[in-house]
Amino acid sequence: MYLTYFDGRWSEGNIPLYGAMDHSLWLGSSVFDGARALRGHLPDLRPHLERVIASSEKLGLRCPLDVDEMEALVREGVAKFPADAELYIRPLVFGTDGFLIPVAEASRFALTIFDAPLPPFSGFSACLSTLLRPQPSMAPTDAKASALYANSTRAMREAKARGFDQAIMLDADGNVAEFATSNLFLVSADGAVVTPRLNGTFLAGITRARVIALLAGEGVRVEERSVAPAELLSAREIFSTGNFGKVTPCTRYEERVLEAGPVARRARELYLAFTDAS
Ligand code: PMP
Repeated sequence: MYLTYFDGRWSEGNIPLYGAMDHSLWLGSSVFDGARALRGHLPDLRPHLERVIASSEKLGLRCPLDVDEMEALVREGVAKFPADAELYIRPLVFGTDGFLIPVAEASRFALTIFDAPLPPFSGFSACLSTLLRPQPSMAPTDAKASALYANSTRAMREAKARGFDQAIMLDADGNVAEFATSNLFLVSADGAVVTPRLNGTFLAGITRARVIALLAGEGVRVEERSVAPAELLSAREIFSTGNFGKVTPCTRYEERVLEAGPVARRARELYLAFTDAS
């Protein structure tokens, strides 16, 4: 089921939001965020809502609702689903008026909530993309902007054509940035847990930060540093963090088979325990 709040009311189905003249359709002034409800729990909901406000500002838009208003709507919408539902929560802010530059005050808001079961901890394959994350001077990389996904989905299509589920993207300096749609962690050959240092080229994931904090709570320090692509070839584990799958293991990188390893498994368990306490 899809449920969308738009223009003061809830509707079911894939309801229209844009007009043919709208800025977002024409020039891509659209931002979104993705949060989840898992069996009634809303892990890190507020940071996701805060980020959609921040992303809006970065594109010259203005989110018409504040965090409290959005949270109230999310809770109202989630309550319309069964109590054990696993849901994706997607607030969207988009530009309507404006010739070239969007008129911030004319930004509109929609909130879509839909069934999306949490993927199992079974593993996915990934290859190295030929496409790069843009530098901050080349695209609005500090926003969760829909426009950025034109390149991410290009990387996904390239990966699919090569028989892989996912793509690992480098930054313009040749260091590992992230998966096309989630952040990347690895366990190095000597057992260190590592994730690329935030450098503005990829999304500072809310799940990434949460997993770093949860592992720290167990005494496991995550090294945030530059990661050379060669490290992917010797890593004991590679796993992803992101709102959709939370923590999921990469079990094949190029021609290498990897295990769904103990660090990823522990991170997943910790995340699910954190969810239950949220
Ligand atoms: N990178 C990209 C490109 C993403 O689309 C996502 C999913 N939102 C992430 C990273 C993970 O971010 P988060 O943990 O905040 O969902």
